[in-house]
Amino acid sequence: MGGGYVGVDVGGTKVLAVRVSATGVLEATATRPMPGVSAGPEAVEETVALAARDVYGATAPVALGVSAAGLVDAAGERFLFGAHLPWRDAPVRRAIADRTGLSVVLENDANCAAYAELASGAARGVRSALLITIGTGIGGAVVLDGRVIRGAHGLAGEFGHMQAVPDGLACECGLRGCWEQYCSGRALERVTRVALGRHLDGPEVTALALAGDQVALHSFASIGTWLGVGTAALVSAFDPELVVVGGGVSAVGDLLLGPARRALAGSLQGTAYRSVPDVVPALLGPEAGAIGAALLARDGRS
Ligand SMILES: [Zn+2]
Repeated sequence: MGGGYVGVDVGGTKVLAVRVSATGVLEATATRPMPGVSAGPEAVEETVALAARDVYGATAPVALGVSAAGLVDAAGERFLFGAHLPWRDAPVRRAIADRTGLSVVLENDANCAAYAELASGAARGVRSALLITIGTGIGGAVVLDGRVIRGAHGLAGEFGHMQAVPDGLACECGLRGCWEQYCSGRALERVTRVALGRHLDGPEVTALALAGDQVALHSFASIGTWLGVGTAALVSAFDPELVVVGGGVSAVGDLLLGPARRALAGSLQGTAYRSVPDVVPALLGPEAGAIGAALLARDGRS
């Protein structure tokens, strides 16, 4: 069977590699720091190859999946754009295949995480689900009838930049009022800073909330409510069985998801006569993208 399947998740600050068995069991993980964007595309490709080698050693894997934070084209050949990665409309799948000598699949990180949660995480056994990843911003994926939906250009599921507030807060993307300005790690920090008069980072706010601090609880209630309101629009569009919420901000659990569930139920029509999908935490944690990439390498990217 060779050396199983390797998945490598390429994020803004680190490259995380995993090896899974043919049955999907996680066997090894390794992390390398991301070279800065200024180091250029080839430095990132080399880091991906090195991180992959960290988890497979002498026995080459059957195939390699690459999960990347940004826009991947529908064919899985080109990485189009990611704010924190140096590739711009670049043929990344082939470049990494050439560099490693392995069969490679390339996919957007949120789609990979959704694939992993569906195969062996919170959405196991579910046919239609939404995955919403709340980190610095919002990532997302749509799974309908067991398939990750990519759309005409591979760009479906980019929920973070849906407009939530006309003429709202300015977003790094150049638009105003994007959902992630109200529901993300950055939003959590901003809401807390306004209430407290000083800056705390996301993990600090999380620790305070878990200790019962009222300001921190209010911050999570605020972004949780925005999570529910935005999710209601997505539920109206896609009618999922389940909504899975991952990403660092979701580590606080029901302090975020409770307000989200209430806002979701309050923002859907006909709730007395329909099923409102549950909002549950992702199970696979920070390795979800890499695991999903490895499983896509195993199953083929359809
Ligand atoms: Zn935006």
